[in-house]
Amino acid sequence: MDERPRLLFSACLLGQAVRYDGGHKHAPELVEALGRFAELIPLCPEAGAGLGIPRPPVALHQQAGAVHMRGLDDPGFDPTARVHAWCRRQTALLATVDGCVLKARSPSCGIGSAPLHHPDGRETLTDGLFAAYVRAHFPDLPMADEETLRDPVQLAAFRERVLDRNRQGSGAG
Ligand code: SF4
Repeated sequence: MDERPRLLFSACLLGQAVRYDGGHKHAPELVEALGRFAELIPLCPEAGAGLGIPRPPVALHQQAGAVHMRGLDDPGFDPTARVHAWCRRQTALLATVDGCVLKARSPSCGIGSAPLHHPDGRETLTDGLFAAYVRAHFPDLPMADEETLRDPVQLAAFRERVLDRNRQGSGAG
């Protein structure tokens, strides 16, 4: 079978105005480079979970042994369960794709780059809620952010991993 690879893509990187402030983070060079060989499928965990556009900005907090998404300005706003439920609804889609390209540092999309606030005031880095879901349930799925893929060597390596997975058949892992 020789189908075009499919990549899930943070919608804001594709230029869609889905960010909390109603803006986007279009990455035209990356979109062009990956769009040459793959179908790019937009998704936005926060808009998808119904948080709205625009919406209150959120951040991740370590709380009672779990990671919670809370409002930056309103700590009482906690959409964690809604975003988790949306992530679970993407399972069938995730099983059909060959990789994910996600926005760095986002509390939903960041791959090991989302700030995590601890009760003692420390700040560490972790996966955003969607990236964590992908890593937990599809650990072999190639995943990278737009900052990593600015490096031509990393971009070429990611492309090879995606093509390899596509040759083996999506959802193999
Ligand atoms: S949740 Fe992800 S796709 Fe949506 S705006 Fe934030 S970084 Fe972009």
